[in-house]
Amino acid sequence: MSAVRRPLKSLGQNFLVDENIIDKIIQAANIQPDQPVLEIGPGRGALTTHLAERAGRLVLIEFDHALAAWHQDQLKGNQHVTVIDADVLKVDLKALLSETLQKWNVVANLPYNISTEVLFRLYGVHDRLARMTLMLQKEVGDRLAAPPDCSAYGVTTVLLGLWFDITRAFVVHPGSFHPSPKVDSAVLNFIPRTKPRAEVGDEDVFRSVVKSAFSMRRKTLINCLKSAEFAKQINCCELLEACGIDGRRRGETLSLEEFAQLSRWVTERVCKI
Ligand code: SAM
Repeated sequence: MSAVRRPLKSLGQNFLVDENIIDKIIQAANIQPDQPVLEIGPGRGALTTHLAERAGRLVLIEFDHALAAWHQDQLKGNQHVTVIDADVLKVDLKALLSETLQKWNVVANLPYNISTEVLFRLYGVHDRLARMTLMLQKEVGDRLAAPPDCSAYGVTTVLLGLWFDITRAFVVHPGSFHPSPKVDSAVLNFIPRTKPRAEVGDEDVFRSVVKSAFSMRRKTLINCLKSAEFAKQINCCELLEACGIDGRRRGETLSLEEFAQLSRWVTERVCKI
């Protein structure tokens, strides 16, 4: 059977085999009756059967064609389940999650090699989400909770922190997977906020300010900002002066409110031009 083929390292296939952890993830996901659920990377279905029992609608996105076909076959009697045989990074999540009026619950044991990229995409559809319960490499999870001015603080911390209240539910040790990864993992709950943690003006501008500030971690903030696309339309020295932020600082020392301040100023100027 395709589902028992050797796990593919290239697709981050570390399958959950610990029933206790599987139960804890399902509990943490707190699926409400009739809620639509998206599972990214169902793999051999450790979580999928439980999700199919609880969800009003379940969409699975699996990049391993053999596993996707196996799920199609296993779940063919379940009208409320859809299997998408695709790379989650290429799926139009906005369109998919707008198919229902109800907001979605995302549950996933994410493939580690693309987890940060997936987080960015889920950040992009925060307004379509009711909740997320994600298993991440513990280090990636730690980054999401990192304070400014430490090496773990980065783009994901600032962007996800704007729209989600993030809490770590529990840590998962390598022995709970087959094959065992080399590092610990963590399950995190992401609850979307009704309002962002700070007023940022235009969200695309905010994303671009944050990404540019972290683009060269050893360089000063002013040098990082100058290389951004928006710097063609504004004067970065004026920007920093207006916000009272010293351009000799490094991007990683800025708080969310300081990023928001920069973003609001750029938003106003870029829109006027
Ligand atoms: N959910 C299963 C579990 O907990 O045992 C499997 C988790 S495994 C860590 C990650 C899963 O994501 C694998 O099934 C893998 O094939 C799938 N995957 C990897 N890259 C993907 C991508 N770009 N898009 C969709 N699924 C992907």
